[in-house]
Amino acid sequence: MKAPPFAYARPASVAEALALLAQHKGDARVLAGGQSLGPMLNFRVAAPRVLVDINRIAGLSGIAVANDRVRIGAMTRHVELERSPEIARHLPLLARALPHIAHPAVRNRGTFGGSCALADPAAELPACALALDATFVVAAANGERRVHAAEFFTGLYATALDAEELLVAAEFPLPKPGYRSAFGELARRHGDYALVGVAAHGLVRERKLHDLRVVFFGVEDKPVRAALLEQALEGQPATAKSIAAALGKLDRDLDPRADLHASAATKRHLAKVLAGRVLATLEGPAP
Ligand SMILES: Cc1cc2nc3c(=O)[nH]c(=O)nc-3n(C[C@H](O)[C@H](O)[C@H](O)COP(=O)(O)OP(=O)(O)OC[C@H]3O[C@@H](n4cnc5c(N)ncnc54)[C@H](O)[C@@H]3O)c2cc1C
Repeated sequence: MKAPPFAYARPASVAEALALLAQHKGDARVLAGGQSLGPMLNFRVAAPRVLVDINRIAGLSGIAVANDRVRIGAMTRHVELERSPEIARHLPLLARALPHIAHPAVRNRGTFGGSCALADPAAELPACALALDATFVVAAANGERRVHAAEFFTGLYATALDAEELLVAAEFPLPKPGYRSAFGELARRHGDYALVGVAAHGLVRERKLHDLRVVFFGVEDKPVRAALLEQALEGQPATAKSIAAALGKLDRDLDPRADLHASAATKRHLAKVLAGRVLATLEGPAP
């Protein structure tokens, strides 16, 4: 199938993009890397009257470390994050997650902001943003607003973004010394969307776990924190044995959604197996 007809605009500034989105109300769609929007148009899942291409807007792309934060511009491509020494050093969770996103051709074009704005429930970056307690920077006609990751992802392919708003960046707190990350996913083939995935971040002090944030993706409609598991592991040894003893908490933490690939019961089982493996790596030598 081919895309339905649409008009095309290429604004040169955020203000111009916002004006176009306001002018066309819900009939306009932002075009970032096009890696999801392109197929959505061709399958006619989306049929906007106007595409607002934000690829030429200066300042929307890049990684900056300042004021105890790492700021990632919305138009930063997956490949830039994957190769960035700053990301490897400060946000190793993202560095670990990125090679799992599709394959190089998609990572060359796909953007951080596009992935978060799309909010696919099985996507890696939204889960990492929640695990790392990121804040999204959203531009609207009346100025900027900031939305915590916990409030940004609201449901299946749904976010706190209004149709007339633009996601411009995300800000990640710089992890303090002693914090470690772990990431893993189960997919039918490497590069496929995850059947089940987990992103974790927390403090390992004297071989014990503290302040842990464990986020599952591909399980529910949006990335979800496992609050009871986190509580059960607070102050516990970072060993496979104590982690295995706490995994039963996931029965109440998770309410898996069956999809084309797995039943809810299978997803719950996979989530436990994966969490056991992934969380046990928090204690390893690498941060
Ligand atoms: C074969 C294939 C495999 C893939 N596998 C994976 C995978 O394993 N994991 C994964 O996470 N992703 C995967 N993807 C998706 C890929 O990561 C996309 O890059 C991403 O989902 C969307 O990013 P994009 O920049 O291409 O956004 P686009 O496709 O341009 O836009 C996606 C949506 O977000 C909106 N949007 C984009 N940017 C903004 C913004 N700044 N502000 C407001 N709204 C915005 C658009 O209007 C659109 O609705 C895959 C894609 C393909 C084609």
